[in-house]
Amino acid sequence: MNNIEFDKQHIWHPYTSALNPLPCYEVESASGVMLKLADGRELVDGMSSWWAAVHGYNHPVLNDAAKNQIDKMSHVMFGGITHQPAITLCKQLLDIAPSGLERVFLADSGSVSVEVAMKMALQYWACQGNSAKHKFVTLRNGYHGDTFNAMSVCDPVNGMHSLFNKVLPHQLFAPAPQTRFDQVWNEDDIAPLEDLISQHHNDIAALILEPIVQGAGGMRMYHKEYLRRARQLCDDYQILLICDEIATGFGRTGKLFACDHAQISPDILCLGKALTGGYLTLAATLCTEDVAVGVCQGEPGVFMHGPTYMGNPLACAVASASVGLIQQGQWQQQVPAIEQQLKVELAPCLSLPAVADVRVLGAIGVVECRAAVDVASIQKRFVESGVWIRPFGKLVYIMPPYVITSEQLTQLTDAIYRALA
Ligand code: PMP
Repeated sequence: MNNIEFDKQHIWHPYTSALNPLPCYEVESASGVMLKLADGRELVDGMSSWWAAVHGYNHPVLNDAAKNQIDKMSHVMFGGITHQPAITLCKQLLDIAPSGLERVFLADSGSVSVEVAMKMALQYWACQGNSAKHKFVTLRNGYHGDTFNAMSVCDPVNGMHSLFNKVLPHQLFAPAPQTRFDQVWNEDDIAPLEDLISQHHNDIAALILEPIVQGAGGMRMYHKEYLRRARQLCDDYQILLICDEIATGFGRTGKLFACDHAQISPDILCLGKALTGGYLTLAATLCTEDVAVGVCQGEPGVFMHGPTYMGNPLACAVASASVGLIQQGQWQQQVPAIEQQLKVELAPCLSLPAVADVRVLGAIGVVECRAAVDVASIQKRFVESGVWIRPFGKLVYIMPPYVITSEQLTQLTDAIYRALA
């Protein structure tokens, strides 16, 4: 049995059927912006491995960080032990994160960091003797991960709540923000969230949202005033604000964090994906001193979470090198250049009958089609044109590594235009 056949018969892939899986392509190695397939073909990567590989693959600085750390220790438990890679990384995160965030909980994946954030919010209110505040308010079209509490705050329709209706906690959903990032702010946009919060604030522990860009729930980019007002509502009604910057963090939207567009700080912040530059799984939940004190001052006096691989030194060492590259600041030229080019080169797609909308923010380009695309056949076409782009639903979108050249980016935008024409 060859590799692809074995894979097809025995290995589960993200969001696929075990019985009738979508085709898979075997990647043998990756370097810079290129993925090399086992059959020798090379593809320009438009996905950054789902927002993660911002510096490109096989990066000498990240490779060195991993090699140096692996010869010291790959892992050691975090209970009762600390180590330099975690300390260095957490210092860097606190230096660059929106102001007011003082404590870091290192988690092992984005979804887990969301679980941790939600648990912090619940424990915070329970420890103040206010366990009535046990619900979360969130936005339609959101996505926060695949574990149960994270799923409970994903969009109810494309998050398929009906499938798990009996076990999912029931949360409160405001409509998705309607004013686009570059439109004139419309005051009506915040009213539904305001109504929901004013009616239910006694039950609400936190508002959780993806700031500015809603990713996997629709690739929508909304107005910074919405975020400002959401922060204000949380303050007015004593609700914590959890910002999930797992996808948007580290420069992707043109600011270091999407919160920076609105100049707000959350009470709790989730980071992941690009945190390790796409090398290893690691996420972080940051919170304010007020949240940390609130969580730990009542019974049981400790925060009830502690994964086996918490603070994994190898992941922390690579993350620290990756954040170091971000701190050097080249993304500040790269991301706006990508944004400009995406705006120019994706605009012609708007004239195609199959296309409903085109939107660009930072190093994110989205072409929304009128109907769901046939992933297997469009993927095959993309591979034949030498690019790696993975659409979902009606969305053909790219968020390439920041180090992509202008020619490589044109290969991606050309391939999109030709596939949809
Ligand atoms: N939140 C957001 C905004 C995400 O985009 C994702 C991943 N797509 C997650 C949470 C979940 O992260 P992970 O896949 O690492 O569990």
